[in-house]
Amino acid sequence: MALIVQKFGGTSVGSVDRIMQVAEKIKGFKSKGHDLVVVVSAMSGETNRLIELAKQIQAEPDAREMDVIVSTGEQVTIGLLAMALKATGVPAVSFTGSQVRIVTDSAYGKARIQQIDDDRLRAELAAGRVVIVAGFQGVDEHGAITTLGRGGSDTTGVALAAALKADECQIYTDVDGVYTTDPRVVERARRLDKITFEEMLEMASLGSKVLQIRAVEFAGKYNVPLRVLHSFKEGPGTLITLEENVSMEQPVISGIAFNRDEAKLTIRGVPDTPGVAFKIIGPVSAANIEVDMIVQNVSQDNTTDFTFTVHRNDFRKAEAILKETAISIGAREVAADDKIAKVSIVGVGMRSHAGVASNMFEALAKDSINIQMISTSEIKVSVVIDEKYLELAVRSLHTAFDLDAEVAQEV
Ligand code: ADP
Ligand code: ASP
Ligand code: MG
Repeated sequence: MALIVQKFGGTSVGSVDRIMQVAEKIKGFKSKGHDLVVVVSAMSGETNRLIELAKQIQAEPDAREMDVIVSTGEQVTIGLLAMALKATGVPAVSFTGSQVRIVTDSAYGKARIQQIDDDRLRAELAAGRVVIVAGFQGVDEHGAITTLGRGGSDTTGVALAAALKADECQIYTDVDGVYTTDPRVVERARRLDKITFEEMLEMASLGSKVLQIRAVEFAGKYNVPLRVLHSFKEGPGTLITLEENVSMEQPVISGIAFNRDEAKLTIRGVPDTPGVAFKIIGPVSAANIEVDMIVQNVSQDNTTDFTFTVHRNDFRKAEAILKETAISIGAREVAADDKIAKVSIVGVGMRSHAGVASNMFEALAKDSINIQMISTSEIKVSVVIDEKYLELAVRSLHTAFDLDAEVAQEV
């Protein structure tokens, strides 16, 4: 008998039929004698619908009220799932984030979990009930509802597993595990039996939305055994593990991540003097805009070009700031491009292999894909390219690094 935290994502609870199917699945686990805490997302599409509603009233919605609105999606699914379970004869009880007391900071829309009160959960488990908890939401110290950022139900699941010292946290979704790359983009993507926390963290932060990055951070920090599985198909899924596979079979690259969420800004003809990088990035950071990649060219004529990327949501705001900076520091011009994509290869095997970046650039060159920016770390290489070549680039790299499955997978 084990204590298991299970999280079911939006598509898995996307209709009443599916909720009934999830209830049957939970019933199966319960009948084996396991203690179960189940976290659910809102029905698929619901969070987007709620955001759109809010935007019809305020283009830039009030952050506190936005969280009041978007958290309701999960309140519906916990009630429906608890009802479905009771209807099949399984004792169950639902809780919102604030009823559990999942305490967060007050950063609406991207709150961080600070503390979880597990007394109530343990009491319900001891009474033999399946406990259903709303994902994605918490409460701050003043009693205001907060949400954890898109995809945040994963983090609720892992945080509850950490607080309860659960035997495993199982993330049930619409794919049967973590793949070498998004199986909806590359047909020949392969399911991984295992992936290290370190690699999963890079994959998530570089755009693989199968797990929210904070969920992976949490699981790594508190050593929560974490597995990604298909909601309605049997299979072992993918285990996120601390162990590195030390066998000779260890591939150099474990996966390829990509995102279309960024935009690129360049300021040209910048006088090359000490402090100029701060003058450019300072005002952008002061406006609370996160900067991702930065490239500064070496100057030849005492001027330099300076390029960086930001999230597309912040693109226009960052461009306006940069235009003002260009005038104040005497730079020549500002160029802005939001038709870019970032593609990254990730693998702990890179540490012990030379020439990985070169192989990547060779594969892209063969397809005549121009690289606009490059950044590297110990276990990843990222490039920025024109967004129209994104799928071609991911497929070519997938083949070049021997990641292709023998036959197309059915996800
Ligand atoms: P849920 O609603 O269950 O949280 P998500 O849509 O957030 O589901 O995450 C599952 C999706 O993640 C898959 O449908 C898949 O398209 C996408 N995905 C992106 N990268 C990967 C990857 N490397 N492996 C598996 N799925 C991935
Ligand atoms: N419902 C939220 C979202 O769509 C949280 C989640 O699904 O994990 O982002
Ligand atoms: Mg998700």
